[in-house]
Amino acid sequence: MPSRPRNRIGEVYGQLTVVRPSERRSRGGNAYWWCRCSCGCEREVPSDKLSHNTTRRKATVTACESCSRERQVEGVCAKNDREELERRRAAQQNRLDLKGSIPDAWLKLPLTDAHARELGAVKFFRGTRCLRGHLAPYRINGGCMACAGQIPSAE
Ligand SMILES: [Zn+2]
Ligand SMILES: [Zn+2]
Repeated sequence: MPSRPRNRIGEVYGQLTVVRPSERRSRGGNAYWWCRCSCGCEREVPSDKLSHNTTRRKATVTACESCSRERQVEGVCAKNDREELERRRAAQQNRLDLKGSIPDAWLKLPLTDAHARELGAVKFFRGTRCLRGHLAPYRINGGCMACAGQIPSAE
């Protein structure tokens, strides 16, 4: 005899609110529930995927299919943002360490390639040496400006 599923109506899992039971049962006998996502979409979710336990490595469903997909994309962006933030922090630190031994103007340049693009600038200075050992600003898409003979390298 399959046990009666616990009534989950009204329970909230991430963006999903359980709204009504489904007739569907998984092969393991788990009940499915219709859940409404905060975006208004509904999704049928098996009860074993509705869990607040995120510490165990267990797949849980917390949004409708399209929101879940969007969140994956956002997750990737967030990761890139974190890496970019890290690059800017490192550049800032490198530049502070170099203060006095490089032209002051370089300290006013954007910190990274992405930073320069954001500001509509063409040069940036991360405070790192190029592969040939120059200490000089870079051009976006163009690489080290000392390599290009556009600016003398700092010592
Ligand atoms: Zn949704
Ligand atoms: Zn160079």
